[in-house]
Amino acid sequence: MIQPVTPWKVLYEFTTDKAILAATTFGAMDITYKCPDCDEDRAVTWPFPDVEMEFFDDCCNAYVRFLPKTGSEEE
Ligand SMILES: [Zn+2]
Repeated sequence: MIQPVTPWKVLYEFTTDKAILAATTFGAMDITYKCPDCDEDRAVTWPFPDVEMEFFDDCCNAYVRFLPKTGSEEE
């Protein structure tokens, strides 16, 4: 089964949430994305950006899934 992948952009390379930042040894970052249902701008803290993250967005309860960026990709 193919699951959707949600496009995302880096908001802050290091999350502004100091507690999470410390807990993840400066690994967490903040990202932005659009709600798959209503296109609303959303933001979330990604504790471990080198690991896939998925959850149900509380905006529309829509399923979102983020894949880590590969190191070989240039912007
Ligand atoms: Zn929404």
